Amino acid sequence: MSRYRGSVCRQCRRENLKLFLKGDRCFSDKCSFDRRGYPPGQHGQRRGKLSDYGIQLREKQKVRRLYGLSEKQFRLSFKKADSRKGITGINLLSILETRLDNTVFRMGFVNSRNQGRHFVRHNHFTVNGKKVNIPSYQVKKGDVIELREKSRTIQAISDSLDAIVRRGIPQWLEIKKENFKGEVVGTPVREDITLPIQEQLIVELYSK
Ligand code: SF4
Repeated sequence: MSRYRGSVCRQCRRENLKLFLKGDRCFSDKCSFDRRGYPPGQHGQRRGKLSDYGIQLREKQKVRRLYGLSEKQFRLSFKKADSRKGITGINLLSILETRLDNTVFRMGFVNSRNQGRHFVRHNHFTVNGKKVNIPSYQVKKGDVIELREKSRTIQAISDSLDAIVRRGIPQWLEIKKENFKGEVVGTPVREDITLPIQEQLIVELYSK
């Protein structure tokens, strides 16, 4: 399945949660979820009771949409998480968090994961001095991510870096704003993900 190209605000309304997919707009009074917090579509205002399967499915869709992955990419991430030692659900969140597109978002270089994917794809970042344009690239402790020289005048990036204070940076990352550089100083822990996610429901769904 290819990447979703419709209205991202519909996804928040569908999942009954603000997924913060549109950067600054999500914090403004233009947020569609704040205006119409019911599911999209003709029968959207009738939110029925979900079965156990439905609850698990919605949880998976919510997390998949939050990180902007296709079904196939998400399932591959789950497979990788399942093959690692430890708790599969937490492994999955860790894999999603350490994607390069998410990392540049969490460092504050961009104002959404979508924008992160776009800038990574277009070669705006280096990892340890080497060009990396793969959004799913997994960063690890010690990696240094830097905005390339030619990209430092992009207005969207300056605006996003200015908003760092409001968004905050998780403990596993450090950023030197003035050098357009960030470092991975640890590994993400469960507490770094503050949105209400019940990862065990995803594990249950895929274990069927
Ligand atoms: Fe979701 Fe942001 Fe759109 Fe609001 S503005 S509905 S939080 S994507």
